[in-house]
Amino acid sequence: MNKDELWQALLAQIQFNISKANFATWFKNTGVFSKKDGEIIISVPNNFSKEWLENKYNKLIFKILHNLDDEIKGIKYAVASPGSKISKSSTVSVDIYNEVPQLEFQEFKINKETSLNPRYTFDNFVVGPFNELPQAAAWAVSQNPGAVYNPMFIYGGVGLGKTHLLQAVGNEVLKKTPQKKVKYVSSEKFTSGIINSIRNRDVEKFKSTYKDIDVLIIDDIQFLSGKEKTQEEFFHIFNTLYEKNKQIILSSDRPPKAISALEERLRSRFEGGMIADISLPDFETRVAILKTKSQEKKINFSDEILEYIASNIQTNIRELEGALNRLIAYQKLNNQVPTINIAETLLKNIIFSPKKIANPEKIIQAVATFYNLKEREMITVSRKKEIVKPRQIAMFFLRRELKSSFPFIGRKFGGKDHTTAIHAYNKILKEVEINENLAEEISLIKEQIYRL
Ligand code: ADP
Ligand code: MG
Repeated sequence: MNKDELWQALLAQIQFNISKANFATWFKNTGVFSKKDGEIIISVPNNFSKEWLENKYNKLIFKILHNLDDEIKGIKYAVASPGSKISKSSTVSVDIYNEVPQLEFQEFKINKETSLNPRYTFDNFVVGPFNELPQAAAWAVSQNPGAVYNPMFIYGGVGLGKTHLLQAVGNEVLKKTPQKKVKYVSSEKFTSGIINSIRNRDVEKFKSTYKDIDVLIIDDIQFLSGKEKTQEEFFHIFNTLYEKNKQIILSSDRPPKAISALEERLRSRFEGGMIADISLPDFETRVAILKTKSQEKKINFSDEILEYIASNIQTNIRELEGALNRLIAYQKLNNQVPTINIAETLLKNIIFSPKKIANPEKIIQAVATFYNLKEREMITVSRKKEIVKPRQIAMFFLRRELKSSFPFIGRKFGGKDHTTAIHAYNKILKEVEINENLAEEISLIKEQIYRL
């Protein structure tokens, strides 16, 4: 096995050992940098991943690698910054959501200059009541960049089509006017670009790469939260482009007002344009999406099967695709479409995975992540002001989603009295009625809880 095959084999096994979310978080963009004299150097995208892999997964990784190749005696981790030799030569990127790897998507090549993936187009983007507005806005922007809605800000939960829509705009602009300069960048990549340029003392050069762009697309902008220097530079880039009537398109998992630690001037810039949200797809649209995707792959599944998937997977279009891909793989291997009974068996662990059940830990984790806090902070006695509200929200969820007793909730949060828990629950319950922002935050957090 060469080093890349070795890593793919490892990833395949790791998937069965840890949760999907953890896998996505810690193993994305990892690879083997080198393998020499029994020592493997694993490349990771940042220090954060390095620490986690070293501290939490080292044993598991070693065990699996050693089983695959008993010559391996030691492992090390190295950060491979984007563009460095390490990441170019051997980072294995993992499409974690496709249970069946390399399913046809390989034929699409991501454009090096624009970072756009041609597979994301308006043609294959299914429109329903849940995404009608953002789709229409995106289409309008693609027909007339810089002139209609600027910036355009699209938000919604994971796997609901934000990236697809953003990239579709970029692809459409280029189709219409190939001479235009379009650039798509994830906010992580944008941040690391800034950090690197600060380190190399060439921030101005970094910024100048953005100055002639006609359409700038930045995905998952919530990750800029708390990164002051990045926000500062982004603000300048934003202004330069904005003043020249260049189009800026942003996405996030939440509305601008709910991104904590976002500079006020950025927030108000975002709010100055068009804000549209993608909510959850209804049953009919879920079936329509499955139909479109199976037609793309030229396989006809019965309505019964498609409706079975659509009625069981409700909150994530990427998971709908994952389920379909499993059935497609079965069809390819056996040269026949699965019956409904076979489909049920094949999809059992997607549909009935324990992920769909909430528990106190998931609630605390989801609330902490949403408000950019450490889980530990939520459950200790700290009276810090910024903790008070998230803690009350977590208590509220424990009651509402799990029917936990108030004394239990009190104990869970650093041994507080049950009256504190009752107070928290009632307070949030009342406030949700009158405070639209809070209601929205609660619904976004709830989505996250059931995703973990
Ligand atoms: P997000 O960026 O919101 O997490 P993505 O854009 O990556 O979600 O979408 C996840 C998957 O679902 C992608 O493969 C995308 O093509 C598909 N998808 C999402 N929305 C639609 C839609 N309306 N029509 C067709 N496919 C969709
Ligand atoms: Mg995305």
